Parts: sequence; structure tokens; C-alpha cells
Amino acid sequence: MNLLEFEGKALLREHGLTVPRGRIISSAEQLQDFHFPAVLKSQVPVGGRGKSGGIRTVNNIEEARTEFDRIKSLKIKGYLPTAILAEESVDIRHELYVSFGIDRRRKAEMLIFSEEGGMDIEKADKKDIRLIYINPVTGLQNYHLNHIFLNTSLQKHTNDNLKNTLKTLYKTFKENKLELLEINPLIVNSDGDIICLDSKITADEVYCKRPPSPVPSINSAESTFEELTKALDINGVLLEGDIAVVTSGAGLGLATIDEINYYEGKILAFVDLGSSVYDKQKMKKAIRLIYDLNPKIILFNFNFQVASCYTLAEAISESLCHVPVVVRAKGKNQHEAKLILEEKGCFVTDDFNTAVQKTIGLQQERR
Ligand code: GDP
Ligand code: MN
Repeated sequence: MNLLEFEGKALLREHGLTVPRGRIISSAEQLQDFHFPAVLKSQVPVGGRGKSGGIRTVNNIEEARTEFDRIKSLKIKGYLPTAILAEESVDIRHELYVSFGIDRRRKAEMLIFSEEGGMDIEKADKKDIRLIYINPVTGLQNYHLNHIFLNTSLQKHTNDNLKNTLKTLYKTFKENKLELLEINPLIVNSDGDIICLDSKITADEVYCKRPPSPVPSINSAESTFEELTKALDINGVLLEGDIAVVTSGAGLGLATIDEINYYEGKILAFVDLGSSVYDKQKMKKAIRLIYDLNPKIILFNFNFQVASCYTLAEAISESLCHVPVVVRAKGKNQHEAKLILEEKGCFVTDDFNTAVQKTIGLQQERR
């Protein structure tokens, strides 16, 4: 379960960490007594809000009204905001990156730190990113922190403050049995104070109860991608990449994900159509939900023994948008399906690997 930013920040605050002063607002009028400039932040369960226009600084109530209305109806990776968070603007001297996570293969915890945090962290130079593994039994030690902060360009007292912040973040991570605790950016302000400007927390529902929402959701009618697909009796998972993968059957689904990961492709969403492959209308509804996520490429991977590739091809060709589509169609009626889809400009093959490679090629072209 991913906590929204304001939920995560409530947890951080409970543990004594500094987060900007702010509150959830359901209209800009609630900012009459607010200290401007303020930052309005869309509360969606995905990242990249800064780059999508989901975060705006406003200098007065008029600007707040305009931006509130715009952000409220701005979809980010398929999500409308559940709420809008207003915070007092913070002056930023350094934007750092820090996260605590779990490497299950190594049975270790991971601490990742970078002096170059912020919205372009994916593009940061690998040598600027420091990673250490922590033994979960003995936990975070001073020597780990000394190692992380060795030769940073930060001042000594900032380093000392940061060490304390990281200890508290680690305590928060452990006490709540979190799967991921990422602060990007963790900032240093002009007074040298350390402030958690953003929060991305993945928690286990068993251990960490989602804090109750302080206000009714501003877009309560809007459902998540998971809920929308579930309503169609289809399994959908939203991730953060470019490629939407549509298959039928858990085995083929996992194999497709593995293969794409192998070529370092980034998956935006994964959809298992399950028994909906017999129902053209249902498939079309699912495909429309996928287009709403704005994928860069859609890969359909099907190997049918009983269901017909023809029905699938009709569903795809009747819902096409301006997104490249790669189809691997094998089995019953595959040749008829190929004819229909190629006529519509799709790339069609009956070979799994050819389909994946074409998809990866298209992703690289469209970067
Ligand atoms: P994300 O893009 O979804 O990860 O959203 P963040 O909460 O990380 O915000 C993105 C960027 O907006 C940050 O890296 C900051 O540069 C900027 N930002 C967010 N809040 C503030 C603030 O209070 N003051 C200032 N000056 N910038 C902010
Ligand atoms: Mn962020």
C-alpha cells in the first residue's frame, strides 16, 4: 500500500521529523489566513508531479484559486488527485535524496543517499549515488552514516543534522515495518535545517493502518486504475514506466514482465485480462482504461488455445489511439488477427521474443 504524500508526512511528523507546515484544503478560500507564498500539491499515488504540473507555488489567493482548480482536474499518470495539500513554501539551499528499502535477495536493508536529489534524480550521475546495505538485525550504525557522508560538499554541522535525521528516518522505517521510505527531496534550507519536502512510503497493510483522511476526497467519484480494472473483473497494476503490458494468464504475464525487465524496459502498467478474453466489450473497456494512462507503447502478448485471436484483434483495432501497438498473437485464428491488425498499423508477430524486442526498440525511440 502506497501512502499519499500527506499521509506519509503525518507519519514522519509523529516520529519527530520536520515537514513543511501545511494542511489539506478542499477550496482555495481556506487559504485566507495562510502565509504566502504557498505550494499547492496534488495528492496522487504516483511520482513525477513536479514535471506534470501537479505542484505549483502561488503568491496570493487569486493565484491559489486558479491553480487549485487546474490541479484538481489534472490527471497525473491516470490519477486525479484525492486531495490537495497546501504548504508554506520553503526556501531550498540543497535538494538531497534519501531512501530506506529492502533487498529481499540479499536479506538486507538498503540506504541510498545522493547529494543531487530532486526531480532529476533518475538522471543523476551513478557515482553521486551512495548505496549501503544494512544488516536488519544489527541495524543502522554510525559507521554507515560516516561512510555515506564522507567527502560531501555539505558543511559539518549540516552533516551532523543529517545524521540525526537519517537515524530518525530509519527508526520510522523500522518501527512501522515499512517496505520503502523515500524522501526526495530532503532539503537543507538557508538556516541549515533539514526538512522532508516530499514523502513516498510503501507500507504493509497489516502493520501500518492507513491514517484516516482528514477531509472527504475532492474527487471521491474517481477510482484508481486498480479499482477500475477490478470492477471489470480484470487484474490491473499501475507502475511507473512507459510500456503497458496486456496478457492473459498469470504465467505468460510474469514471463512477459521478466523478459521486459531483462532488456531494462520500463513497465507503466500490467493488465491480465483473464477470462475477459472471451468478451470483446469488456476487453475494449480495459483497453480504454490503458489508453487513459498515456502509455508510450502497448504490448499485447497472447497465446490462445481456446479463445480466439480474432476477438482480441477486433477489440484492439476498434479501440486504437495514437500510441504504437505491438501484438504477439499466437494460436487460434492468429492469421486472421494478423490481417486485421496490420491493416491498422500495428506490429504483429507470433513470436514472443520478437514482440518484446520490437517493444523495447520503440521505447528507446520514444524516450
Ligand atoms: P514529485 O515531483 O512528485 O516528486 O514532487 P515533490 O514533492 O518532490 O516536488 C517536486 C519539486 O517541487 C521539488 O523537487 C522542489 O524543487 C519543488 N517544491 C516542492 N515543494 C516546494 C516548496 O515548498 N518550496 C520550493 N521552493 N519548492 C518546492
Ligand atoms: Mn519527490
